[in-house]
Amino acid sequence: MKTIGLIGGMSWESSAVYYELINKHVKELQGGFHSSKCILYSVDFAEIEELQRKGDWNNLNKLMVDSAKKLEQAGADLIVLCTNTMHLCSEEIIKNTSIPFLHIADATAKAIKSQGLKKIALLGTKFTMEKDFYKTILKNYKIEVLIPSDKDREIIHQIIYQELVLGNIQDSSREEFKRVIKTLQLEGAEGTILGCTEIPLLIKSKDVDIPVFDTTRIHAENAVKIALSVN
Ligand code: GLU
Repeated sequence: MKTIGLIGGMSWESSAVYYELINKHVKELQGGFHSSKCILYSVDFAEIEELQRKGDWNNLNKLMVDSAKKLEQAGADLIVLCTNTMHLCSEEIIKNTSIPFLHIADATAKAIKSQGLKKIALLGTKFTMEKDFYKTILKNYKIEVLIPSDKDREIIHQIIYQELVLGNIQDSSREEFKRVIKTLQLEGAEGTILGCTEIPLLIKSKDVDIPVFDTTRIHAENAVKIALSVN
């Protein structure tokens, strides 16, 4: 079994879910007493959030590269960055490390393709919805991406940063997400990406009538398959 290196703490609420999902999936596949060999390097999210707000991606790149290198030095065989947004730093991480990096958008695109969907809604932070780093990967898989309106992107972003990363789960926010997903469904979305690792804490498949792609679960389970060399 390969050792999975996790860069976590963004937020720890979702990193805890990664840890649980990874161990559960190892047990599902291997049974018995099996559990995941993994190393977690967890950052202080306050530092990250401040740099994001200031748009200081130079220093964010440095912090992510430093975290990845620590995992490599500690013996990790692959790197899993436990946040969609911070994949903005993936190119720098890949350039500065020599172990495989498992990109969350790649894993998600493959899951969407396997269900034969072509038009998908993307919900996440404004960085993820508005910048190209994530959508480009989906487009490379010939998946058309729909994002919410300006106003709804702001609402989603605020719910993520004011509530979800702080572990605050509100029914009223769930209703907002359901409304936004319904709007995108009416615009033609055949499924929706929960493209922020905390959104699955709020929205479950049963809350919407189109397929939901939980990036936390997809990413975590993909990491286990690579660690165990199964398809
Ligand atoms: N975990 C979130 C994501 O998947 C947002 C927190 C962050 O900015 O990393 O995008």
